[in-house]
Amino acid sequence: MFGASEPRPPDDSSQHDGAALRLKVLHVIYDDPGNPWVAGGGAVRVFELYRRLADRVEATVATGSYPGARDGVRNGVRYLHLGARGPYAWSRASYAAAANRLLRKADYDAAVFDFSSYTPIFMPRGRPSGITDRVTVTIPSAALSQNADSSLSTPPGEPASDGLDGSQVPGIHAAVLRAASRAAARTEQAKAADAAAPGECAHVGASASYRPPPRLREFIEVRDQTCRQPRCRQPARQADLDHTIPFDQGGKTCACNLGPACRAHHQIKQEAGWKLTQPRAGYFELTTPAGRTYTTEPDAYPA
Ligand SMILES: [Zn+2]
Ligand SMILES: [Zn+2]
Repeated sequence: MFGASEPRPPDDSSQHDGAALRLKVLHVIYDDPGNPWVAGGGAVRVFELYRRLADRVEATVATGSYPGARDGVRNGVRYLHLGARGPYAWSRASYAAAANRLLRKADYDAAVFDFSSYTPIFMPRGRPSGITDRVTVTIPSAALSQNADSSLSTPPGEPASDGLDGSQVPGIHAAVLRAASRAAARTEQAKAADAAAPGECAHVGASASYRPPPRLREFIEVRDQTCRQPRCRQPARQADLDHTIPFDQGGKTCACNLGPACRAHHQIKQEAGWKLTQPRAGYFELTTPAGRTYTTEPDAYPA
């Protein structure tokens, strides 16, 4: 992902970047490079990413605990181990509870989490997260290597000073802020259009095809996070995206007519006696053959 540039530990020659202003990121992932049970690619990827960004991002990685786990800073990346040190099943279960607590209480500018059905983590409401829009930030690998000249991280002709408070910020940080404010502006427009439309959806992101485009799928996965059957914990990422009103009956491929359904529940929904509606985008009403009605709300709310 970052090309072939050789990683180096952060040095102190980047003072001109305004090192005081660092984005505080909390990354929640059970896997840890030192974990005897789970130390896979995800754990290594997270460490390598924040190690390279250490002079720009103040990262705290909250991982699961294990025998001999020690909190501390490794190559500029702070590690916190949450939950019990063992046995494995209890380590995972207690981790999920502790991680959810940390997400609610910790101080951060942005939170990132790796979803796993073994350790279900949910973004709390009212914290700096939620869906604004997809923000893609492309960072040239040269800018990530620690000896990169600052001119590489600021587009030519653009001032490096682009901080919301008028202060000098490093090029990458400025690029992130620019992308975020553009996304926020687009979200405001989309929200205004949705509010004015009947059914509170202006279908701005709708697709003419049956298969939802990747961008729409990502949006639904973040909004809904799990299968929309009440109490089903199957992650949305592994679920089908079900058209609430079937596509062949005029149902749109749009956020107001899609919701994740795991294989089992997708089949049940098509059986006689079950009725699923989506009166507002992200709000599902399920009526069982016995006539009971359940409502499921979004897990994350558009910011
Ligand atoms: Zn719509
Ligand atoms: Zn399900």
